[in-house]
Amino acid sequence: MIGIVGFGKSNQMLYEFLNKKETLFISEISSFSQEWKQRFVKDGVMFEENGHTEKLLECDLVIKSPGIRRNLPILMEAESRGIEIINEVEYIYRVLKKLGKVPKIVVITGTNGKTTTTDLTGKVLKNNYSVFVGGNIGNPFCQVLGLEEPPQIAVLEISSFQALDLKEFEIDVLVILNIRQDHIDWHGSFENYKNAKLRLLNFCREDGVVILNKDDENLQKISKKSPIYFSINNRNAGIYMDISTRKIYLNSNFLFEMPDNINYKHNYQNALAAIAVGKHLGITDENILKTLKNFKTEEHRLEEFAQFNDIKFVNDSKATNSSATLAAIDCFPEKKIILILSGREKKEDFTELIENIKKKVKHTILLGEMVVTLEKQMKANNLKYFVARDFSEAVENALTVAERGDYVLLSPAGASFDMFSDYKHRGEMFKQTVLKILKEKCSHEF
Ligand code: ADP
Repeated sequence: MIGIVGFGKSNQMLYEFLNKKETLFISEISSFSQEWKQRFVKDGVMFEENGHTEKLLECDLVIKSPGIRRNLPILMEAESRGIEIINEVEYIYRVLKKLGKVPKIVVITGTNGKTTTTDLTGKVLKNNYSVFVGGNIGNPFCQVLGLEEPPQIAVLEISSFQALDLKEFEIDVLVILNIRQDHIDWHGSFENYKNAKLRLLNFCREDGVVILNKDDENLQKISKKSPIYFSINNRNAGIYMDISTRKIYLNSNFLFEMPDNINYKHNYQNALAAIAVGKHLGITDENILKTLKNFKTEEHRLEEFAQFNDIKFVNDSKATNSSATLAAIDCFPEKKIILILSGREKKEDFTELIENIKKKVKHTILLGEMVVTLEKQMKANNLKYFVARDFSEAVENALTVAERGDYVLLSPAGASFDMFSDYKHRGEMFKQTVLKILKEKCSHEF
């Protein structure tokens, strides 16, 4: 019997593939919807809700959601009895291996930029190969089983949580974009979080390749073979972009210029990583360049969506930790930024963010749980700020401060769950509020 512990998106999809093929037992800490309960009854599948019981110890294997801690007493007991605990990615890998259908596996990880880089890398590789793009990005790996033909390559976004439950998984190309503070609340310390990411190095095949960001202090001195480094600062890196000329070099040889549609330092880094993977897997320069030229970053990532009196409005709701917000602040001229911070922090140290706000931000607006976290530090540093109750107050306040040439930037530095269902909901609400207020202002002006 296979135990499925935690019933989020990936395990729900996995259920669709395993139902009727395996005996399943579903165990969930919260309660199931009526629909799911009816479904389990109809399928004749055993389940328990509102907690995990010893019934789990009857399983031969447990597949758990990435967010569930391995040190839950029941999981520790299971492990001590020799019951293996893995995740959906590991399970699917084993299924494919048994079928002799494992594709080449490209893994993208990092604190920020995973989704953008996974998406771009997938597009680059599609020039020559059949590619499945998935993992943490929203299409669980198990969807690969629904394809008529196995893909030649799977490009998988893997989070620090997922990294902890891998065992036999093998990676052909591993990209680590950066390691900055995030999810400290879950991992307990930065060291644990960093080690969870670096754990992926152990799964690289002997003939595999590791692609690392030379500009990240946490990715220096990686002992794994000789990594390919990419950089926007260091000419000696395997793939280097000179930001002043936009020229990209591969082993010091000019490759091509970064197309105009790719902007901001962190997107250069994401693009360099995708180029490195593309070159390694034999995609031509022409095809890589063509793909880069067509690339658009997804919604809620530094999305400029409105302009009023030469003031631009930017939605960066996906910035759910301070390092993504730091990257955002770096993208706009100093003292032209009106920054809206909001959301739930994850036990991060905000010293660097505060220092950057001091240097580069004109005015800061705090919203949601971030008020409690940051108000004291803002005061202690004599920084100007305004506490808003909602986006309407935040935007109204921003407009009292903003001048021509300024940017009103929502780059929250925290998770969205204090006030919204997810980062998309938060970004949508921000955009709607701005557009409504600007519409009212325009109609007053006529
Ligand atoms: P992830 O999937 O790792 O959360 P995304 O591509 O969705 O990454 O981007 C999340 C946030 O991080 C956005 O605010 C984006 O502008 C910012 N970002 C994207 N790439 C990078 C990078 N390489 N370094 C720092 N911040 C980045």
